[in-house]
Amino acid sequence: MDYCFAPAPTVSVPVVGQSAEFPVHRIYCVARNFEDHAREMGQSDREPPFFFMKPADAVVVVPAGEAVTLPYPSLTHNLHHEIELVVAIGKGGSNIAVEHAAEHIFGYAVGLDMTRRDLQNDMKKQGRPWCIGKGFDHSAPIGPITTTQHVPDIQQATLCLQVNGTVRQQSQISQLIWNVAETITQISAAWALQPGDLIYTGTPAGVGAVVAGDTLAGSIDGLTPIALTVG
Ligand code: MN
Repeated sequence: MDYCFAPAPTVSVPVVGQSAEFPVHRIYCVARNFEDHAREMGQSDREPPFFFMKPADAVVVVPAGEAVTLPYPSLTHNLHHEIELVVAIGKGGSNIAVEHAAEHIFGYAVGLDMTRRDLQNDMKKQGRPWCIGKGFDHSAPIGPITTTQHVPDIQQATLCLQVNGTVRQQSQISQLIWNVAETITQISAAWALQPGDLIYTGTPAGVGAVVAGDTLAGSIDGLTPIALTVG
């Protein structure tokens, strides 16, 4: 095959204990999936899940034990952190039943759904798409993926985000409004999931701004933690 120019390289994420990397296809994100965060964003009742996407090349790989620089993005004065469990899909499918969802999961990772909150809020007010607030370059930091057989019970895990050593967000995966299996069912009803898809499953309360020079440390029990410095 001849191309008019060199195609973009495949984005991939390291896998704990393997030399082979996880090639990224799409990035799906769940909005308002923790009750306390839904409340802080102004929502009062449980509503069906809704989704947005980030481009695959928004991924910023954070290798184990390294502090990666996260470039402060353009256009914003209110860059927010959202710590999230990321589900890595290993087997595709459409209309996946809740009881079969686990068969489609390759593994889990710690991720950050970085958000240009001022731009997202402007778009929300105008009823316009969130792309500019959510799907920008470097908006999807992620740590190495741990395969499912090495994660005993993700449902019982605690997730935590510290900024400059102070805890900003802390909750349990069990507090997700729509759990991992239900999320896979809902997304696969709308899109055909493919091997290589990543799902950012939503963030708990405590989202807030970071500025250049801040350090972020994200962790979820049983997974490789991530560390970044805002550049
Ligand atoms: Mn989010």
